[in-house]
Amino acid sequence: MDQGAFFIYADNAATTKMSRAAIDAMLPYMESAYGNPSSLYRLGQEAKEAIENARARVAACLGCEAREIYFTSGGSEADNQAIRSAALNGAKKDKKHLISTAFEHHAVLHTLKQLEKEGFEVTLLDVGSKGLVTAEQVKAALRPDTALVTIMFANNEIGTVQPIREIGAVCREAGVPFHTDAVQAAGHLPIDVRADNIDLLSLSAHKFHGPKGCGVLYARRGFPLRNLIEGGAQERNRRAGTENVPAIMGLAAALEEACAGMDARAEKLNALSKRLIAGLRKIPYAELNGDEFQRLPGNVNFCFEGIEGESLLLLLDDKGIAASSGSACTSGSLDPSHVLLAIGRPHEVAHGSLRLTLGEDATEEEVDYIIRAVTEVVTYLRNMSPFWRDLTTGKRPHVFAEFEV
Ligand SMILES: *Cc1c(COP(=O)(O)O)cnc(C)c1O
Repeated sequence: MDQGAFFIYADNAATTKMSRAAIDAMLPYMESAYGNPSSLYRLGQEAKEAIENARARVAACLGCEAREIYFTSGGSEADNQAIRSAALNGAKKDKKHLISTAFEHHAVLHTLKQLEKEGFEVTLLDVGSKGLVTAEQVKAALRPDTALVTIMFANNEIGTVQPIREIGAVCREAGVPFHTDAVQAAGHLPIDVRADNIDLLSLSAHKFHGPKGCGVLYARRGFPLRNLIEGGAQERNRRAGTENVPAIMGLAAALEEACAGMDARAEKLNALSKRLIAGLRKIPYAELNGDEFQRLPGNVNFCFEGIEGESLLLLLDDKGIAASSGSACTSGSLDPSHVLLAIGRPHEVAHGSLRLTLGEDATEEEVDYIIRAVTEVVTYLRNMSPFWRDLTTGKRPHVFAEFEV
């Protein structure tokens, strides 16, 4: 697509551009080594060996064994399989209680909703105004009949990072399986499934410069994984269907690349977000969403009073900035983001949210351009808004202070 002379992609939490290394790792498996890994001739065995090599490399990035890695069609499938497996295992022992949080990705929340209809009981922990849960909250919610705790590593909208290791320790002590949706964290934050006490973990290639439609479910050795998809014997009988060999190769290359450059990138992105947050805070009646420090590098999410998120996005697009309001999954629906409601934002403010997720090649100049553009667009939209007039004339009370302290 021709983006014109000027284009800033600031929606890396929705998806990322594929890296050269990931594309290069995929091409041979489309052009020449295209065999079916289940075939016995050399062309097939070549593909099979490539997958096993990718599995070992992914395992090394996560600190586990290759046989604990299952390739899936993405983060959503991995979340579904992890949660359904633990629920089925629990139900066999009459354990039908599941613990999660109110601001999970819909791949988790909708699976839990469905399980509720199937007779499970779900406790959703409060994430507070900062968008953080504590291990103590998890401990207090555990019951003798708890079958699973599932808590996301980092939130996809507001970027807050949870104390995963402590939560994992509480679950391990209680003997309850712990799943984490690490789709936003993988390749961006250090993960060591052993040290972090994680039994089940989901990740997705397209969130760290790999291809779309490919993910991983890590399941700790001995955890009885259940099939979502029945068929052939692929993935040690746990996920039927001919393997997406090129995508698996792209995933492994992208994950290795992301993990190798993680610290330097995080440092750069943290400095850029700090600059962006400081700039946007100069806009009156605006607040940062989620804890300022316990967040993903490059994630900046604000609410502006008197603004419709959709109009803001369209006008920013005209200025060459690709951003999002809420998450990619909630746009197109008129409901405000469940994440912003979970941190206690009132409906009228939750509608006026903006998520900017910077990529590693962003510059200070681009950040300054974003600050100018958002300031201009917010001012323009407020000047046309009858709702804003009510706020300025005192007909309606402000939700935020003029400036955050
Ligand atoms: C993107 C995302 C998913 C879904 O992953 P897909 O590979 O797109 O299915 C799940 N959880 C979180 C936190 C995400 O950001």
